[in-house]
Amino acid sequence: MINFLDLKEINARHADELKAACCRVIDSGWYIAGEELSSFEKEFSAYCGVKHTIGVANGLDALILVLRAWKEMGLLCDGDEVIVPANTYIASILAITENRLRPVLVEPDPHTFNLSLEGARSAITSKTKAILAVHLYGQLAPMPELMALANEHALLVLEDSAQAHGAQLNGKKAGNWGHAAGFSFYPGKNLGALGDAGAITTDDDDLANVLKALRNYGSHKKYENIYQGVNSRLDEIQAAMLRVKLPYLDGEIARRQQIANCYLNGIISNDSLTLPTVVEQTAHVWHLFVIRTTKREELSAYLHQHGVQTLIHYPIPPHAQQAYKNKIEHGNLPITELIHENVMSLPLDPTMSDDSVDLVIRLINDFFSDNT
Ligand SMILES: *Cc1c(COP(=O)(O)O)cnc(C)c1O
Repeated sequence: MINFLDLKEINARHADELKAACCRVIDSGWYIAGEELSSFEKEFSAYCGVKHTIGVANGLDALILVLRAWKEMGLLCDGDEVIVPANTYIASILAITENRLRPVLVEPDPHTFNLSLEGARSAITSKTKAILAVHLYGQLAPMPELMALANEHALLVLEDSAQAHGAQLNGKKAGNWGHAAGFSFYPGKNLGALGDAGAITTDDDDLANVLKALRNYGSHKKYENIYQGVNSRLDEIQAAMLRVKLPYLDGEIARRQQIANCYLNGIISNDSLTLPTVVEQTAHVWHLFVIRTTKREELSAYLHQHGVQTLIHYPIPPHAQQAYKNKIEHGNLPITELIHENVMSLPLDPTMSDDSVDLVIRLINDFFSDNT
């Protein structure tokens, strides 16, 4: 059986180090906002090439709190428009609506699944204040172009980097392009904790300062509250787990890229099967390997029959979810809807063996040679 993602196997490789780090925290007697967090924040900042990392409880909070901080700083107001790709995971949209801002859903580039310069440009109105660029499936959105557009119109840019730790373009990593970025360390992400965790990265000192208060009841100094903050903290145990795993991230990304290249070279595309488009080798860290196929049900049934698990990211677009029924204004979104009807994710994680990769390739090619 080739599982879609083998979390047990992924963490088993670091078991001794993880257990030692866990014991270190238990024995320290300090469990929130201590040395592990401040060290992880420094290490992750160095990794991304940014000035500040602010650890928070999860990826959704990271996105929510950046927008919230920009409101506290007077840079955003209720009802301001935020441009966002329509085909993202719902968290990106929730961060906008949670802050009483207006998501403006934009059709993605159908080849990269990311926001395009033209798409973003055509959505700008006099009420647009920010762009939330999502690096979907692990590939950087076209950040040089989007940043130039944002500068031209004085827009804030927030990167949803939850799927793209370590992705880079022109030597600059995800989390280092926009004015701020949100990361998730959910266990299944490319850098995963052993529970929930997230972080914000930014070069902006003022923003970092506001965020450090917001995540902690709006307080810099115990029992003095400047903002009506929240409790969203990255605890010491999870920070310690992440410190163990961060040094292995680049090696794991390299293995993901190797597997993705095998898929790209080995799987034969045809009229009913499209392989993902890679803009630039280093820009894609392959959180997910997503193909498009008009024979999704048949192909996934065939693969399951032969012991290969596949998933769909995502079956229903945010605007079609019951949660947003009649709650977000949007035009027709045919590209987004088509994407959700025909995407399928193949198994890809750094522990996957070459034999498993070859088997997946062979099964897919066999399926289409019998079915075209
Ligand atoms: C996982 C994810 C999030 C949310 O992260 P959590 O840690 O689960 O809250 C946000 N955006 C995208 C694109 C994601 O994939």
